Amino acid sequence: MEEGAIYSAALVIPAISPPILDGAVAVKDGKLLFVGPRREARELGLGMRERHWPGILAPGLVNAHAHLQYTGMERLGKSVWPDFRAWAAAFNDMYEPIEASGASPWKDWAADGARRAALSGTTAIADVVTNWEAASALHDEGLGGIAYWEVMNETNEEWNESKETELAKRIRSIPGLAGISPHSPYSLDRVPLSRLPGIAKNLGARTHIHLAESPVERETEDPATEFKDWHSFKSKDFSDARKGGYGGSSVQYVDKLGVLGPECHIAHGVYLTAADRETLRKRKTAIAFCPRSNRVTGLDEPPIASCLLEGNLIAAGTDSLSSSPTLDLMDDVAELAILAKKQGYSAKDLHLRLVHAATLGGAIALGLGSGEGRIGQLGVGARADLAFFDIHVGSGANAIEDALAELAEGGGGKCACSFIAGIKKFGLLF
Ligand SMILES: [Zn+2]
Repeated sequence: MEEGAIYSAALVIPAISPPILDGAVAVKDGKLLFVGPRREARELGLGMRERHWPGILAPGLVNAHAHLQYTGMERLGKSVWPDFRAWAAAFNDMYEPIEASGASPWKDWAADGARRAALSGTTAIADVVTNWEAASALHDEGLGGIAYWEVMNETNEEWNESKETELAKRIRSIPGLAGISPHSPYSLDRVPLSRLPGIAKNLGARTHIHLAESPVERETEDPATEFKDWHSFKSKDFSDARKGGYGGSSVQYVDKLGVLGPECHIAHGVYLTAADRETLRKRKTAIAFCPRSNRVTGLDEPPIASCLLEGNLIAAGTDSLSSSPTLDLMDDVAELAILAKKQGYSAKDLHLRLVHAATLGGAIALGLGSGEGRIGQLGVGARADLAFFDIHVGSGANAIEDALAELAEGGGGKCACSFIAGIKKFGLLF
C-alpha cells in the first residue's frame, strides 16, 4: 500500500458536483479517497503530505473521438479545405501510397499521438483504429479509454459468419478496453451495419460511429440527387436508399438498424435536425463534437447551442491531426464556447458545461462514467486521473466564473501536470 497524497488547488472542478474554491483531493492506491474543501482534508488527519497548486485541478480530460494513428498526417490538418470531398481526396492521396508502400508507420504515429494528447492533460481517449499495428497505442502509452476497431467497406454480399468470427477474435486480442467502430452509414452496407451492435454486445464491448458528419447525411427533400457521384466507398445501401427516394437523415437510417443506444456514441453530429437530436436523447447516445475538424474539412458548425438547451449528452473530441491542428482537447472546448455563444447560448453555465463535456461527458460517452474504475470526475472511489491547469483564480465574487471562462476559452496549452491512476503522467509539478 502506498502512502497517498493530498493535492490541493485554488479551484477544484469535480464535474459530478459543483466547483470548490480552495479545494483538495486525497489520492491513495490509484483512487480518490477524499474530494472537498482543503480545510476539511486537513482536519481529517489523513497523515498525507499536501502538495498545493495555485491554479485549477480538474479531472483528466477524456477525448471522445480521435484517430491517433494519423498523427503523422498532420500536414493535412493545418489547412482549411474547401469542402469535405476535397479533404477526403487529399486524405486518400496521402493514405493510399503509405499503405501501398508497406511502410506501416501507424504504430509509431499512434504512439506519438498518444504522447502529444497526454501533454495537454488528456488521460483517456476513444481511439479509432484502422490499421492493426495501431491497436495497442493507448495500452502501450499508459492512457485510459477504448481502442475502437474500425469496420468499413463491407457489403451485404460479402458479409458472412467467418468475418464475424474473425472480428470477434480481433476485438478480444486488443490489449486494454476494446470496442467496434462501424465507420459510417455510407461506408457499410445494411447487413454488416445492423450486425455490429450485437457482435459488440456479445463481447461486452461498446460501439462508436461517425454520424451526421457530412452534408449528404442530412435530411433532404431531394434524395435522388443527394448521392450523385459522391461516394467512393464499396458499400451502397445508404446511397441506394437515397436514390430510391429516402430523404431521412443518417441518424434516422441507423436508428432503424438498431445502431443507436446507451452503449454507442457518435462522432461529429454536425447535420442534426431537432428530430435527430430527440432520437439521440431517447436512445441515450452521446455526441462527441469535433468542431475544429469540421472547420478544417470544410463542413458546417455542429449545433452545440441546441444540444445544450435541449439536454443532449455531449462530449468533445479532437479527431486526428489529419483534420485538426492539435490533439489538445481544450482547443476544441474553446471552439465550442465560441460557437455556442454565436449560436445564441447565453446562459451563465456555458463554461462549466463545456468543461464537463470534456471530462465527465467523455467518460459517459465511453461508458466509463460510473462503476469500478470510473473516470472523468473527481469523486470518492473514482480513478485518480488528474489535470492541473495554469489558470489564474482570483478572489472576487466572480472568481469561479472567471476562472472557468478562462479555462474553457483559453485552456489549450495550459495543462501543467497530469496524473493517471494516481501516478504522474507528465509535468514538473510536485
Ligand atoms: Zn473521425
